[in-house]
Amino acid sequence: MIFLKTKLTKLAAIILAATTLTACNNEPKSQQELTSQKQQATPQLLPEFNHRLDIYKEVTLTADLSHLSANQKQLLSLLIDASKIMDDLFWQQAFSQEKKPFLASINDDKVRRFAEINYGPWDRLDGDKVFISGQKEKAHGAQFYPSDMTKEEFEQTVLAGKNGFYSVIRRNNEGKLTTVAYSEAYSDEINRTAAILEKAATFADDKEFANYLIMRATALRTDNYQPSDFAWMEMKNNPIDVVIGPIETYEDQLYGYRTAFESYVLIKDLSWSEKLAKYAQYLPELQKELPVAQKYKSEIPGSDADLNAYDVIYYAGHSNAGSKTIAINLPNDEEVQLKKGTRRLQLKNAMRAKFDTIMLPIASTLIVPEQRENVTFTGFFANTMFHEVAHGLGIKNTLNHQGTVRQALKEHASALEEGKADILGLYMVRQLLDKGVITEGKLEEYYTTFMAGIFRSVRFGASSAHGKANMVRFNYFQEKGAFSRNDQGLYRVNINKMTAAIDSLSQLILTLQGNGDYQGVDKLVKDSGVISETLAADLARLETANIPVDITFKQGKKVLGL
Ligand SMILES: [Zn+2]
Repeated sequence: MIFLKTKLTKLAAIILAATTLTACNNEPKSQQELTSQKQQATPQLLPEFNHRLDIYKEVTLTADLSHLSANQKQLLSLLIDASKIMDDLFWQQAFSQEKKPFLASINDDKVRRFAEINYGPWDRLDGDKVFISGQKEKAHGAQFYPSDMTKEEFEQTVLAGKNGFYSVIRRNNEGKLTTVAYSEAYSDEINRTAAILEKAATFADDKEFANYLIMRATALRTDNYQPSDFAWMEMKNNPIDVVIGPIETYEDQLYGYRTAFESYVLIKDLSWSEKLAKYAQYLPELQKELPVAQKYKSEIPGSDADLNAYDVIYYAGHSNAGSKTIAINLPNDEEVQLKKGTRRLQLKNAMRAKFDTIMLPIASTLIVPEQRENVTFTGFFANTMFHEVAHGLGIKNTLNHQGTVRQALKEHASALEEGKADILGLYMVRQLLDKGVITEGKLEEYYTTFMAGIFRSVRFGASSAHGKANMVRFNYFQEKGAFSRNDQGLYRVNINKMTAAIDSLSQLILTLQGNGDYQGVDKLVKDSGVISETLAADLARLETANIPVDITFKQGKKVLGL
């Protein structure tokens, strides 16, 4: 606070000085002066971000559409139109300045593209640092809360629905905090999206999917998403799918309550889906075998849970900002999860693109030569897949009447849940290999690929939920000797110690969750959610090696031939 005040005072002094100078100086300005003033007003890339512009590699997002009917293609086309509105809405949630004029004000093509990828002037893969001149730091609450609101004010305000997923907090005429439902705050965009979804429904051959689209349109208009979430879980045979609306809460870094708009347009890979369904059957058995005291594993994972593989043909909004999600686990609604389980969507084409452009080069730079052959797409695909399955394991309600784990752990809930899913994912792979259910690959393959995957993820910085979770885990593994680092800065996985570390970390996380231990998690994240100097230096070698940090998509109707 004090720093901020000093800064503001200084700024005020500079502005005052500038005004005084102008007022005293009646001479006409020279052309040079005018040009230099104009340059100052034009947003510029801050020089320390020069090296960041190439961290994303563009790949073309395509899929085989040859088996689809004319109706289905028309349907996809409409779903892409609706997604574009989600994209605009997410921009509004992330940043206060309008998208088009802001982007147009940037002269340099690469800088403009970088701002577009980040949905604003903050580098999402580097702790949300400001990379454009004249911009302020990003508010933890993004645009979900008034910029002058403190946590104290929010917590002291008595307000119905203040922890809601589908409303923003604004000030009323008296300056008091109030909630405004998304359907009201974004009424124009919401109504247009709903209308497109209803039109899309008329092209859907699959009746259940048509019904789902209509229900989703209603959800957008009424801010009640639960019925459409149930309908989505009940729908099993649709070859085309769409995940659309306000969904994940990561953008609300103040409380983790409010949801961000996004969309994925998807085509189901039916052959993969069969294979994946097999693993989901083992959830109840694996829940019972979790390495934790009985009371932390007494909830029954949703029996209706399903896993599917898809090719994704369009990303929009939150899902398209910064790092690209390659696996989804939805819905987030705990009531639906308890009654219906969750659906896991594996985005195969995007996953393969990341593996080829990022993982293989990382392994060559940071893993000891003799373990590099263990970094495989089989391992990568399985680890990502089991991460999603593992969200269904463990505990969702605290044992001491603090409500759901998510409510009790507030802004740390996401980080810990992601950490849990990663670590229990590895636990599942090991169990299923032992049971002979997974027949592909060796344990070494999954562990080593996971290790290489940590390097891939922590390059995102430790600001996101996934980033923090990865750092906690990396530091924990190091402490337990699950991997070692040689003099050349190459990492070697110790299989037995890794197994022990996975079990003890699983126990720690599940216990923190079940106890709703906010203080405990806060301490864990503060102590271990940080990147050490050695690791930072090793990650810097990936930059020198020019390995992309993530991918961006050339996507849309044109590349799909729609
Ligand atoms: Zn996850």
